Formats: sequence, structure tokens, C-alpha cells
Amino acid sequence: MTRLTVTTSWDDGHRHDTLVADMLRQHGLAGTFYIAPDNVEIAPADRLSATAVRDLSADFEIGSHTLSHPVLTRVPRPRAEREITDSKKVIEDLVGKPVTTFCYPRGMYAPEHVDMVARAGYTYARTVRTLATGIADNPLEAPTSLETGRFARQRMVVDVVRAARVVGSTSLVRTGRWDDIAIALFDRCRATGGVYHLWGHSWVVSDRAEWARLDRVLAHIGGRPEVTYAVNGALGRG
Ligand SMILES: [Zn+2]
Repeated sequence: MTRLTVTTSWDDGHRHDTLVADMLRQHGLAGTFYIAPDNVEIAPADRLSATAVRDLSADFEIGSHTLSHPVLTRVPRPRAEREITDSKKVIEDLVGKPVTTFCYPRGMYAPEHVDMVARAGYTYARTVRTLATGIADNPLEAPTSLETGRFARQRMVVDVVRAARVVGSTSLVRTGRWDDIAIALFDRCRATGGVYHLWGHSWVVSDRAEWARLDRVLAHIGGRPEVTYAVNGALGRG
């Protein structure tokens, strides 16, 4: 089994998501945008408008990232449940289609939150774990392959060792250049098959002025006839 599936996901519902969407279209990639309609960490003027979300939903999957982007482990249980359950309904009303994917804010959750996600009817939930290149053991705790722009924070010794094994190069991992690492990891996955899941935040790409790096990576991983391009939700439907 050497078939490779490539998916991407983009968190938070920032207005710059439309720029990411343009790049995904240009390079023949699929993607899921995780929206928190009342994200308190993004100024209202910087959030995707309702119209923009609907436009995105024509070509991409829209998933829930809660209503207001709380860290689920730091809010009372009933609040967490509302954030998970009500956001599904709010976003479904917005885009006019079922919302089956969820993303835990900051990747923070406990087993009870996985249960809430299942009860709400989601079939796939993404975490922030990286360096995975296979099908998730549990689609409600799905790991990813790499985060755009954020490799530097993984440079503790244990992470370098693990990353070097997955990426296939210690020296490359030590550079911390996420775009080079993303491309090297993709090239390995082309040989082994599995799932390559690149994710990030459009506002981080913008803050770091890394649009050219992102474009370089998306151009490399997109539009390949031997690769299956899928939205996140397709990975939860087994
Ligand atoms: Zn987020």
C-alpha cells in the first residue's frame, strides 16, 4: 500500500484564510477550515465574514473550532459541551451543510471532551500532535504531520530525535526550517504512502511574512496525479 493521501487544515477563521484558499486552489489541494465564529482571540474585523465562510465552503470543508475558542480543559464542563455542540449547529446554519469535523483549541482536551465530540455527532477531530504519517488510531484524536511556521518550538532534544527519524534527516531537522522539513517529509511519504497532513494558521503565515515559503510547500505537495487529495472529514469516514 503506497497510496498517499494529502490533506491540509487551517485554524481560527482569520480573514487571511481566503489567501490560503486561493493558494490551495491554485496548487490543486484540498483543505478544511476550522472556524470559531466568535473567536475571542481574533478581532471581529479580522474574522472571516459570514459571506467569506460560505464562499470557502463551496470549495473546501468547514469544520468547527468551537464558538469562542476557549481552552476546553480550562472551562466548566457544561460550557465545554456547549462550545462543542452549539458551534456545530451555528456553522451548519451558516454554510447550509453538515459539519462533521472538529478541532480542539490549542490542542488541549481531556477524554471527556472526546466523548462530547462524539455525542455531538462529529466523526473526525484534529489535535495538534505532529510527525504522524498514517491513519489515526482514533479519528476523534487525529494527529497531523507538520504545522506550518512552527517547527522551532519542537526543538527539544527528544523532539529532534523523533523528528529526525520521521523526516529522515537530523541536520535538516536541526535547521528548524519548516518549509524544507515539510517538503522532505512529503517526499518520504510519497515512497511509503499513508496520510500527509499539513496544517497551520493564516495569521501566523502573515505575521511571519512566510507566504512565499507556504506557496513553495503547497506547490511541491499539490497537483500530483498519484496522490489523493482529501478534506479532513474524509479521513474520519474510514
Ligand atoms: Zn485555534
